[in-house]
Amino acid sequence: MQIKRASEMGFCFGVRRALDLVWKAVAEHGKLQSLGAIVHNQKVVDDLARIGVVVADNLDQISSRAVVITSHGVGPSVTEQMQNKGLQIVDTTCPHVKKAQNIAKKLADDDYAIIIFGEAGHPEVRGLLGWAGGKGKVVADASELPEDLPNRLGIMSQTTQSPGNYADFVRQIAAKLPDIAELRVFSTICEATSNRLDAALDLARVVDLMIVVGGSTSSNTKRLAEASISEGITTYHIQKADEIEDCWFDDRSIVGVTAGASTPDNVIDAVVDKLTDMAGPGKPA
Ligand code: SF4
Repeated sequence: MQIKRASEMGFCFGVRRALDLVWKAVAEHGKLQSLGAIVHNQKVVDDLARIGVVVADNLDQISSRAVVITSHGVGPSVTEQMQNKGLQIVDTTCPHVKKAQNIAKKLADDDYAIIIFGEAGHPEVRGLLGWAGGKGKVVADASELPEDLPNRLGIMSQTTQSPGNYADFVRQIAAKLPDIAELRVFSTICEATSNRLDAALDLARVVDLMIVVGGSTSSNTKRLAEASISEGITTYHIQKADEIEDCWFDDRSIVGVTAGASTPDNVIDAVVDKLTDMAGPGKPA
């Protein structure tokens, strides 16, 4: 059995930056809490808990002096509530998310209705809705669009959506153009997401089984698994090496490995090591 790694996978710029900022904040403030998981990966969350970074589900649970805004960002009212509580804020919002937030705010200020292509309930999307100031609506699929679209409409995407799916979505809205007076479309998908998706698709075309490593709630990891499945390849989305089962590899000769932007290198390496062991001695890995 041969094992091939995607040419781009694992931690992205935004996640590395967020973790660097959190480590510096721990050195400065000691124990602190994050509002939600810093990244959607349990191993990372557990490692941070060991150095004193504890996840809070809501602001009422914050008892530390400093609070971390995660790479997914928050809406302006959440930041305001943190300030009102006198918390020191460690803001690790990814610059790509910040750019999307600024677009949502500008559209809202200019009185556009805003459609956000993304997952309702995802923390980044909740933050974008906050910046859209009551003018935003989250839509995951064109079939969810309202019959009567507003006259002045802005469209943007969660940063970790698939560019191909977003383009299809925009095309379906554009088909309704005679009924919309003004349409503004923004490309807010980050480069790390696009590059990892391209690399996963390239790999899926040359292997006969794909392993996608990443948190079960990680949006970009889910998109990688969807991309691989779209190529007709048997795909397993796992969080760690010990979920791999021997029976997956009967009659498989080339196995591809990719990983989401919040998956640490040591988790990916453990998966590749396990697959290499399973490939057996003398077989190329
Ligand atoms: S996936 Fe993109 S938007 Fe999300 S943290 Fe990484 S670089 Fe930033």
